[in-house]
Amino acid sequence: MPGKRASEGRIGIGWDAHPLRPGRACSIGGVAIPCDEGPEGHSDGDPLLHALTDALYGAIADGDLGTHFPDSDAANGGRDSAEFVSAALRAVAARGLGVANVDAVVTAEKPRLGPHRDAIRARIAGLLGVGADRVSVKAKSLQGLPAARGSVIAQAVVLLAPSPSRGSRPSRRR
Ligand code: MG
Repeated sequence: MPGKRASEGRIGIGWDAHPLRPGRACSIGGVAIPCDEGPEGHSDGDPLLHALTDALYGAIADGDLGTHFPDSDAANGGRDSAEFVSAALRAVAARGLGVANVDAVVTAEKPRLGPHRDAIRARIAGLLGVGADRVSVKAKSLQGLPAARGSVIAQAVVLLAPSPSRGSRPSRRR
């Protein structure tokens, strides 16, 4: 509930998949990846930031990316998906919660994400205001399995913990 202090942690999950299209800019986890194809989408098409946004909204049971930023709204066209994450994070903070950690998996045959993993972790950590040691990103190629061909698939799990309230000390229990 907005404005109330949280007394317990929450967990959320997000999933997204976008097809690759030639000539599209390739943004994954908020990082521009050099590639001749990029994920199609109404916004910048970043499947990892969409999965993360859904995980944040899911953890606080507050709808999902589509309910907050419908693709029927022209204002969301070509939009930087980092803005979706920031909006979801504000909703999380309003409930007295903060991000404890994130674990994510990106499945794509193309582009190869291994060399960009730490840049993606740092970018997501920056968006969430946490250390990079709280953000895990794993890249899977599935060795050419047809299901992974021509698309980028992302999953994210986020754990939220109560934020320490300002000016108060943790209460001692007898
Ligand atoms: Mg999406």
